[in-house]
Amino acid sequence: MYRSHNCGELRESHFNQKVTLSGWVQTIRDKGFVAWVDLRDRYGITQLVFDTDRSSSDLLEQARHLGREFVIQIEGEVIERASKNPNIPTGNIEVLVSKLTVLNESLVPPFTIEDKTDGGDDIRMKYRYLDIRRNPVKENLIFRSKVAIEVRKYLSDEGFIEVETPVLIKSTPEGARDFVVPSRMNEGQFYALPQSPQTFKQLLMVGGLDKYFQIVKCFRDEDLRADRQPEFTQIDCEMAFVEQEDILNAFEGLTKHLLKEMKGVEIESFPRMTFDEAMKRYGNDKPDIRFGMEFGELNEVTQHKDFNVFNSAELVVGISVPGGNSYTRKEIDKLTDWVKRPQVGALGMVYCRCNDDGSFKSSVDKFYDQEDLAKWAEVTGAKVGDLICILSGDTNKVRAQLSALRMELAERLGLRNPEEFAPLWVIDFPLLELDEETGHYHAMHHPFTSPKPGQLQLLDSDPGAVRANAYDLVLNGNEIGGGSIRIHDKETQNTMFKHLGFTPEEAKAQFGFLMDAFQYGAPPHGGIAFGLDRLVAILGGQETIRDFIAFPKNNSGRDVMIDAPAPIDDEQLKELNLKLDL
Ligand code: ASP
Repeated sequence: MYRSHNCGELRESHFNQKVTLSGWVQTIRDKGFVAWVDLRDRYGITQLVFDTDRSSSDLLEQARHLGREFVIQIEGEVIERASKNPNIPTGNIEVLVSKLTVLNESLVPPFTIEDKTDGGDDIRMKYRYLDIRRNPVKENLIFRSKVAIEVRKYLSDEGFIEVETPVLIKSTPEGARDFVVPSRMNEGQFYALPQSPQTFKQLLMVGGLDKYFQIVKCFRDEDLRADRQPEFTQIDCEMAFVEQEDILNAFEGLTKHLLKEMKGVEIESFPRMTFDEAMKRYGNDKPDIRFGMEFGELNEVTQHKDFNVFNSAELVVGISVPGGNSYTRKEIDKLTDWVKRPQVGALGMVYCRCNDDGSFKSSVDKFYDQEDLAKWAEVTGAKVGDLICILSGDTNKVRAQLSALRMELAERLGLRNPEEFAPLWVIDFPLLELDEETGHYHAMHHPFTSPKPGQLQLLDSDPGAVRANAYDLVLNGNEIGGGSIRIHDKETQNTMFKHLGFTPEEAKAQFGFLMDAFQYGAPPHGGIAFGLDRLVAILGGQETIRDFIAFPKNNSGRDVMIDAPAPIDDEQLKELNLKLDL
């Protein structure tokens, strides 16, 4: 038996008991006649004591030869600790060691295995197994496991069936590049790894399974933006015989359950906002509604004067920054520089101070009088002591820019409290999105999303105006889930493919299996997928998904621990019928 107890469980009630513990050596303090060793395992730390009086000098000598991260087993007696440590649960006891066995030695670890380590990101990624020994990483993985278990509990209680779908498949249309796998047995042919199990879960509905879920790895070969992983996990779900309302209710239920179980937070019902409203009020389809600073559109109250920048702008829009009038001129200039950075891309920023005496002072006083500025304050909801920040230009761009500024200011003002949870549904997404570069429309969600009833005809005349039965679940400014009611008849699906620029042959080659299935009694259906990594990170009060993944890839999509991706040898290439013409 390696252990009778773990390193986190011994208390005063165990005094005088003989115990066996196993774990890693955290620290050794050698005071000559006595030595203490902190022994660590997944459950905590227990102090071991070796001394010449009560144990033996041999044992003490043995203890002196231990090193950090050695794996040891000890036998001993639980005794009262002389100097208690109120900071750890085992702080009132220690174990007087009577036998010590070294189970394995360890090299000196390249960074300290402490909550606050001296190791930088790269080294911790390379030795991720050591990083996992640290509390913050370990706790995150335990937290993730609990979330996944709660998801399974809740959905299975609601009658959902967990079904595994294949990983070696054919291209799925989630809008990213596929990772491909060459087939040895089928020369010149490739599998694609799923970007999501989308088509399979729809086929499961045709198969009559009616309520499906799966906690599943998905793969997308995207240029890596900050905090994206090429492989990530979804809670993927689909239901048959449902309308949008049924899906929203079912998965609002799941989210409420998770908030309650994991955070003790109870939320009555989630607000809903259309895509158009979210864009207008927050400049963003995943608004963080934990704080205000809503957009005020100022075209009407700015375009009667000679200020050409505003007159020629498609949109003039501002936010009021609470208490912002306290900013010095220099600080405001810095904000202006911030929005002018290429990452944000604004051309400039107009501001207006709301002075304590009720007067206003703007950066465009030449053009606007106090009466005008009072109207700006009214539209943006600015009060005495606030600062109004205004951007102008092309609607879509300006909204994105002001939204970035809103988030930045909220961060600086401490308004993004990670322990506060503000979920909402964003609904009525556009069906199609114009690709500015190619001038073509593509599916905003994916090609299987159904248009809102009665809007199919609009596809010809005004494709950008067609709204979809598509929805996102947003939590604290992050999209944590998204889905749609699907098209379930062949005709409509064909029309969609046509509008997305597929020839009938292409559509058949890529999705013929789904179109075939639709001919055999496909029920009305719809679903949603949650990004588990992000959901867990947000519930955990953090925004970096990497910290909640056991073995994540770095920003270049590499696993630096196992050193992947890596070349394969010529023999293997030949077997796969792959020739590299470099
Ligand atoms: N397959 C979709 C996605 O990965 C989710 C869904 O429509 O259910 O975003």
